[in-house]
Amino acid sequence: MGSIAPSPAEIDASVVKITRSTNLRDVPLPGSPEELSHSYCTDHMVTVRWTAGNGWETPEVRPFENLSVPPTASCLHYATECFEGMKVYRGYDGKLRLFRPDCNGERLVSSAQRTSLPAFKFEELKVLIAKLMQIDGPRWLPKDQPGRFLYLRPAMIGNGPHLGVQTPKEALLFIIAVPWPDPSKKKPEQAGGQHGLKLLASHPDSIRAWPGGFGYAKLGANYGPSLVAHGKAQAIGFDQVLWLFGEDRQVTEAGASNFFVVWENKQSGKLELVTAPLENQLILPGVTRRSVLELARTRLNQSCGKLAPVEVVERDFTIGDVHEAWKEGRIVEAFVCGTAYFVTPVKLIRNDDVDMNMLDAGAERAGYAAQIKSWLEAIMFGKDGAEAHEWGYVIEGESQK
Ligand SMILES: *Cc1c(COP(=O)(O)O)cnc(C)c1O
Repeated sequence: MGSIAPSPAEIDASVVKITRSTNLRDVPLPGSPEELSHSYCTDHMVTVRWTAGNGWETPEVRPFENLSVPPTASCLHYATECFEGMKVYRGYDGKLRLFRPDCNGERLVSSAQRTSLPAFKFEELKVLIAKLMQIDGPRWLPKDQPGRFLYLRPAMIGNGPHLGVQTPKEALLFIIAVPWPDPSKKKPEQAGGQHGLKLLASHPDSIRAWPGGFGYAKLGANYGPSLVAHGKAQAIGFDQVLWLFGEDRQVTEAGASNFFVVWENKQSGKLELVTAPLENQLILPGVTRRSVLELARTRLNQSCGKLAPVEVVERDFTIGDVHEAWKEGRIVEAFVCGTAYFVTPVKLIRNDDVDMNMLDAGAERAGYAAQIKSWLEAIMFGKDGAEAHEWGYVIEGESQK
């Protein structure tokens, strides 16, 4: 009969239905219990519904409220859920910025597809966030308070009511913004301060990801089962689990962040910045990881102040390699990076019964993490000549409250 089925609609963030809250919430002060709760959201949220038949519906910016899902919803039983972690920064030039938001958009689509949730045009994610922040930005990140940020959590769930096992026929994309404690404002003696994180290497009986699995996707399903090890590590004073993989105990990543070590190569004696590779799909391809690598490749391939040049290497390495380098005094520094933890030095790694102090060994030659962090900060907060860096996406058109 020649009729062509209409193709399901794409997300079009240029046509957003906006409903403003008439009941604005108090903005919590930095360090307040509300902020420390990690659960107090801004006045509005973005939602976009999807159905298999019609595709994406008109996006909405609407008052923040609890979601309603049927008890039979796919996400509640079959973990059809993925998410992103981003921040929106109030710059020293008064502008609001996102950091490389298309990287997050692309990754959200990739994660969604790994759990059979729908794709969308990834560039639309940043536009949806911009619509939210045009409304909530002025009150929640005041222009006269540069250097502050909100944590953004875009997420997608299968919210259809079919309890039978099947691919999701309905989905919801939503975006919330949450005031978040600033890790750089923590006192040094607290986790993540100047003295760095304590990592507990995982035990062989518990692995985070495996070849053919989904360690490379940002799925809630990666997190729930890892919380047992995380809880045990925290109970004995560690900040994160350093996840090892395989018989040879390859170092993969730490908690919700990617792991780097700067060491002297045993054979060549040259300094290397080393991190686990992406090819085997065991680790999450962090946007911060990628940015650290790109900055190191372009700016640390030559001396930089007191820092000697480093060679940037993405390859498999084991906890045994780290141990050997540590024993031989070849470790310069170790750090983790991610949106939530930013770039944070590692103070100590415990593997079996050996405690490896990462700060003593190379202290004199260290400083790579701090240098990279300050370059990234300049881009995020629009300062030190990085106001127009291509990694910063400026949100224009903030409302007048
Ligand atoms: C989100 C996440 C990271 C860090 O990724 P960024 O894009 O840098 O924030 C690292 N590892 C895991 C497991 C993650 O979920």
